[in-house]
Amino acid sequence: DASPDTRSFEADVAKLLHLMVHSVYSDKDVFLRELVSNAADACEKLRYEAIAAPALLGDDPQPRITITLDPDARQLTIEDNGIGMTQAEMAEALGTIARSGTKAFMEQIAAKKDGEGGQLIGQFGVGFYSAFMVADKVDVLSRRAGEEGAGLWTSDGLGTYAIGDADPAEAPARGTRVILHLKEDAADYTRRFSVEPKIKAQSGHVPVPIVLKDKPDAEPAQIADGAALWTRSKSEISEEDYTDFYRTNAGQFDTPALTLHYRAEGVHEYNVLAFVPEMRPFDLFDPDRAGRMKLYVRRVFITGEAQILPRYLRFVRGLVDSQDLPLNVSREMIQESPVLAAIQKGVSNRVLSELEKLANSDGDKYLKIWENFGSVLKEGLYEDYARRETLLGLARFKTSTSNNEWRSLKDYAADLKENQTAIYYAVGSDIERLASSPQLEGFRARGIEVLLLTDQIDGFWVTGAPDFEGKPFKSVTQGMSDLGLIPLADGEQPPAETSDEVAGFIDFVKATLGDVVSDVRASERLTDSPVCLVAPEHGMDRQMERLLAGAGQ
Ligand code: ADP
Ligand code: MG
Repeated sequence: DASPDTRSFEADVAKLLHLMVHSVYSDKDVFLRELVSNAADACEKLRYEAIAAPALLGDDPQPRITITLDPDARQLTIEDNGIGMTQAEMAEALGTIARSGTKAFMEQIAAKKDGEGGQLIGQFGVGFYSAFMVADKVDVLSRRAGEEGAGLWTSDGLGTYAIGDADPAEAPARGTRVILHLKEDAADYTRRFSVEPKIKAQSGHVPVPIVLKDKPDAEPAQIADGAALWTRSKSEISEEDYTDFYRTNAGQFDTPALTLHYRAEGVHEYNVLAFVPEMRPFDLFDPDRAGRMKLYVRRVFITGEAQILPRYLRFVRGLVDSQDLPLNVSREMIQESPVLAAIQKGVSNRVLSELEKLANSDGDKYLKIWENFGSVLKEGLYEDYARRETLLGLARFKTSTSNNEWRSLKDYAADLKENQTAIYYAVGSDIERLASSPQLEGFRARGIEVLLLTDQIDGFWVTGAPDFEGKPFKSVTQGMSDLGLIPLADGEQPPAETSDEVAGFIDFVKATLGDVVSDVRASERLTDSPVCLVAPEHGMDRQMERLLAGAGQ
């Protein structure tokens, strides 16, 4: 049946398309990067499938992306000889959004007024649909590797698309051709002097060669050689090269805050190219969010699911290219491989040591990373016992005496008061409320610094009873603190002696409250407030109690 079938986009896609068409987002060039990156992905997928099924390559084994300009017809075409899509795959991939973070993105968009979504699109990236920023109609002709038939997907980006059989003579022999019917004001994208530098700059380092034809019948000219950036030596690579690669390869729109590029040699050989983003991705706290490190084996892309880094480093993007893993290792078997385990360990340690280095060499730059990702890194304090020491060293805190500045535990330990043996902390959801809590009065009177912990994860790692350089962490709400031993700051009044009068009053309160409290005591910790509730010395922290109560425990 050759008659095409008209279908509606999934609701989220329709919303995104509407946004894009009405967006004032100015950087329309990104559609080039998105479509080239999809074409490169398709070639890499084929390269992987061909390991097990070499026949898929037929007589055209070299991957290639071809960009054709047609000024007369006002069209731009991006074609690859990669894996291709069946009609069912096109309907699935181009009619729905599988991108992680879409939900969080949509929620942010919904909270904005009309027209304000443009910059957000720039931060999120909408992949294939960015084509509709410059085109009022897009045709996708595709033939899945190894299949006879071909499909045609067509849409004007206004809510529906049509899908049906394509004339096999028209379709690529293998792979996908995306034809953009450009809007009137996008005619520049049919001119070589405009398009070529943009592609070179944005996508010059994708691991697939790119050729350009400036007219449909012109000779193709190579504009990118497809050499994998990460295999080249650092000294040949500029910062712009790294940024462009990061954007194309990781689908990001910002500039890396930290770039790691090195080759591990010794028992295992592998290349690592990894980036810490400058901005927080939308889905950082999405429970489904997985790591973003890709695994290659001798330049062949194997999987994005190898979990090369622990969960608390899920904000790091990039890739590892192994020399030692067998090429034909199945994605399922990879997780069992001792080679992968060694890579995981090596790369994780290296990321943390690079962060340490940065913290020492450029504190401000490091603090930006901490502000974005500190709450994720702290998950490691809870999950990764073996690296807790390192992570505690990387952690930064706002404290009761820091005036909203970040402090390290080293800073804290250097400023301990006479007789102070513990690191004190208070857990809560709001920093101002914490800072003014009566629980802190006795600490303030002695000039003792208290860590103010306001991240969700804080209640968890801190009760695991870790210590830092031999100093235990102690909650200010927990039991009688050792305040009596620590001298008051100048000008503070010592508390009234526990007189007969006070003792009588305590007996009265105990009798009145009965079983509701386990004890009533005169305390060193209060200076202004008359009374506060504390948890027993070995009982649960009050914030923890609330968390568990909230979880129905
Ligand atoms: P992403 O690349 O992040 O998955 P996109 O919106 O860019 O998101 O693309 C959506 C999906 O469409 C891809 O995951 C892929 O399955 C499919 N796709 C897009 N372009 C191509 C192509 N040139 N060849 C094969 N599949 C493609
Ligand atoms: Mg894409």
